[in-house]
Amino acid sequence: MQYPEPIAKLIESYMKLPGIGNKSATRMAFYTLDMDEKDVNDFAKALVSAKKDLHYCSVCGNITESDPCMICADKGRDQSKIIVVEQPRDVMSLEKMREYRGLYHVLHGVLSPLEGKGPDDLNIASLLRRLQTNEAVEEVILATNATPEGEATATYLSRLIKPAGIKMTRLAHGLAVGSDIEYADEMTLLKAIEGRTEL
Ligand SMILES: [Zn+2]
Repeated sequence: MQYPEPIAKLIESYMKLPGIGNKSATRMAFYTLDMDEKDVNDFAKALVSAKKDLHYCSVCGNITESDPCMICADKGRDQSKIIVVEQPRDVMSLEKMREYRGLYHVLHGVLSPLEGKGPDDLNIASLLRRLQTNEAVEEVILATNATPEGEATATYLSRLIKPAGIKMTRLAHGLAVGSDIEYADEMTLLKAIEGRTEL
């Protein structure tokens, strides 16, 4: 027996989420049918709004409602440091620490020859522009994850930027090899920043 089209479509949509297979998607679809109409409407609105009202900051690439984002627009922040991360989620993790008061730059991925991801596929050109036009920047802190791709991306950026006379540092590896910034606790992140090493 086939499901009626609306539920089949809902199952199909849930299956597009990471880690959700047919079985979970079917369970979630039927659960949605049992939800209050108001909750379903709020859910649908939240989905549409998250996509429509959020953009990437034209300066740093972080997700934001306003452009430039609140961090880039905050002149009270330390303009001499930029932490380079892979994903907007990493900015959230580092901000939770409440210790770092500098700026960020989000690459939106890492160099990955296997996945065909080269420098042009990452938010690198805008980082270089930023460094050229903003003389206040003294240090770029590379906080890509401790994976082979993250390390290769850090090395690439260091070679690219260092000749311009900007101090390049890498987070200390209190972070275990292969670990993600996103999941590190605040103390570990703080130690990783404090113990960063110059490249
Ligand atoms: Zn920004």
